[in-house]
Amino acid sequence: MTDYKTIPTPRKEACMSALTDLSLTEALAKLESREVSSLELTQAHLQQIERYDPQVQAYLTVSADLALEQARAADAARARGESAPLLGAPLAIKDVLSTKGIETTCASKILKGYVPVFNATAVQRLLDAGMVMLGKLNMDEFAMGSSTENSGFFLTRNPWNLDYVPGGSSGGSGAAVAARMALGALGSDTGGSIRLPGSFCNLAALKPSYGRVSRYGLIAYGSSLDQTGPMTRTVEDCARILQVIAGHDPLDSTSSKAPVPNYLDAMRQGVQGLRVGLPKQYFGEGLQREVREAVMQAVEELEAMGASVQDVDLPYSDYALAVYYIIATSEASANLARYDGIRFGLRVEKGDMIATYKATRGAGFGDEVKRRIMLGTYALSAGYYDAWYGKAQAVRTLIKRDFERAFEQVDVLAAAVSPTTAFKFGENSADPLQMYLADILTVPANLAGVCGMSVPCGFDDAGLPIGLQLLAPPMREDTLLRAAYAYEQAHDWHARKPALVS
Ligand code: GLN
Repeated sequence: MTDYKTIPTPRKEACMSALTDLSLTEALAKLESREVSSLELTQAHLQQIERYDPQVQAYLTVSADLALEQARAADAARARGESAPLLGAPLAIKDVLSTKGIETTCASKILKGYVPVFNATAVQRLLDAGMVMLGKLNMDEFAMGSSTENSGFFLTRNPWNLDYVPGGSSGGSGAAVAARMALGALGSDTGGSIRLPGSFCNLAALKPSYGRVSRYGLIAYGSSLDQTGPMTRTVEDCARILQVIAGHDPLDSTSSKAPVPNYLDAMRQGVQGLRVGLPKQYFGEGLQREVREAVMQAVEELEAMGASVQDVDLPYSDYALAVYYIIATSEASANLARYDGIRFGLRVEKGDMIATYKATRGAGFGDEVKRRIMLGTYALSAGYYDAWYGKAQAVRTLIKRDFERAFEQVDVLAAAVSPTTAFKFGENSADPLQMYLADILTVPANLAGVCGMSVPCGFDDAGLPIGLQLLAPPMREDTLLRAAYAYEQAHDWHARKPALVS
């Protein structure tokens, strides 16, 4: 599916890698001052993709022709004196987001060949802000997974060590940005899918509050949990993308009408007086030694910068994983009913209509997706509904209240993103429960609708990145960015580069 044939040979070989090393913010400054053109920047990224993606396999589709056309248009617009927040910046999009005229598969064979006739609102807003779209990124099928091993097409490798997973489900987004094959990317997070690959790939990665970013055109997994958000190499880059995609959308009735603050201003306010909470339940058994040490060190540094630190209690945390896997699978079983071979993508004709449905779904969905549909259908079925789905919803409310109470005492919560750093291919994939445990520290935020972020905070003994997770109340992405930015400024973790692309 990946199409490399139209990638031109770049003219200035030597400076190409320097161009792909720029952060989004630095690249925008160079575009603005005309030091570099969008065409040069885009060609450099396409060259980087040509060079590294055969190993990393982050892209499902490279839209090279479109990108070059958009880059020329961006340069022409700038020459006419026009400006826009992301004018001429090459970014890439997780394949869960609908892109008009460009195949959108959710990494599922059942959507092979599906070409949307509209753009997701988040994508449209990036295009309106001047993005150059490099292509569509690999993921776990329908965003179900934590390693990108569940892609229906191929797995994506972690640029920090090709034997390790990049995390999931937005693993293509994480790997592409870490390998300098895009200045930034969009991911989606239902239970951790932005933050987890963010932490495994050493990125700044932000899951907005539920309702902060429109879900229109985001192919639904768990509709009460899903959010789209940015994955970049710096906190400032994250803020820039969030600024563009946040805000009410009449096409998504769950999108919030709350005003969108100026994130770049908010980010720079420092952490003097900021109250940081450490959820006791997030520091229990099973936390890898280096992860615990790096997170505690980061918290001490926030304290040294003027923040106050206290323990907080989230007593219902122990139930979050179970509740999540009932609610997410229940919603998925309903959302995925539409893939029946009639309207979208794959169709396996088999005599009558019911037989065609069955044959199409049997051939089109992968094992994990089938497992989730069965779990969800069971949880919703008559006779079991109250015991499973009903109970899960009740406990979800208790989890939400835990966060409300905690945020009466503190402004942000700090923890690890995942109990461990990236794991090897196959290490968790034979045992679904083991894989689900990677999400234990990320799913509560989705259940409660709060915002969360992963920020690079160190490396383990094997040289794999560690992420600091910060959580803030609904619609307080400004606070999240403020804490993340202050921490990032004191370190160079985010500036380190995988050996592969050095
Ligand atoms: N790993 C979790 C799951 O499989 C989260 C996925 C996500 O956030 N999309 O459901």
